[in-house]
Amino acid sequence: MKPKNHRHEGEFHHKHSLGQNFIEDEALLERLAELSMVSGEDCVLEIGPGLGALTRPLAQRCRRIASLEIDKTLLPFLRVALEPYKNAEVIFGDVMKMDLAALIQETFGDCSLRVAANLPYYITTDVLHKLYFELPQAKSIAVMVQKEVGDKLLSGPGEEGYGPLPIMCQYRYEVTRALDVPAACFTPPPKVDSSFMLLIRRSEPLYAVKEERFFLRLVRSAFLMRRKTLLNNLMSSYSLDRQTASSCLESAGICMQARAESLSIEQFCLLSDILFEQVCNH
Ligand code: SAM
Repeated sequence: MKPKNHRHEGEFHHKHSLGQNFIEDEALLERLAELSMVSGEDCVLEIGPGLGALTRPLAQRCRRIASLEIDKTLLPFLRVALEPYKNAEVIFGDVMKMDLAALIQETFGDCSLRVAANLPYYITTDVLHKLYFELPQAKSIAVMVQKEVGDKLLSGPGEEGYGPLPIMCQYRYEVTRALDVPAACFTPPPKVDSSFMLLIRRSEPLYAVKEERFFLRLVRSAFLMRRKTLLNNLMSSYSLDRQTASSCLESAGICMQARAESLSIEQFCLLSDILFEQVCNH
């Protein structure tokens, strides 16, 4: 592949193993940058700049941008593509191995932070977890995901895909599907269609809980044994006797036969607070 519109040395060969499905359509790239909500006051963390196609329209809109890329063979192309953008910096390394909190503090200091990425699909869930815990200050996360992952992020109780990831994301962010992007828009085209998802941080989480980590752990353990009733689940996960576990459920207004997939986020929050008192204050 010859990178479009730019001076470059030689050709670039896509690495399937790194999820290198690039976007070349300038109009689409402009649209994605626009949907990312980036403005002149923002510093942007981009994950996976590839040949810098999305980096350029983002750099035009933001104060500064740091793009994390794992593939060093992209360096000469990125150097040329981003030459005119003095506010753009490329950092080589594996996003999964980086301490993002430290990196952002070092690179931008305290700033209005937004995240944008045409993510490699093999790390979507892990990256969202990492961003949630390491960059809680990010005002928004605009991210390209497989269309089914987009459905999952939007799912509610009883729907396919409902589980820890959508609950965690919806708890802190307002999640919307900004744009569906057909497979044909990528080079090479992946096997599945994609959705560009926008996660906008809420001014306050959906419901106040006493301990956010305790709540997220409860959600994870509830779905880990999703075939079990919540009652059995609580008994084994928190070493509670039947009587105590039932009274926790009763206080949260949850029926004894309920399973994780039927609980709303509000019910999980309520249960988390009741359980927290039971487990941590006894
Ligand atoms: N942003 C470009 C675009 O829209 O055309 C490229 C997107 S491509 C789907 C994903 C990019 O993420 C590739 O450049 C790939 O090398 C990079 N990547 C894959 N795994 C990564 C990781 N663990 N850390 C950082 N970058 C990674």
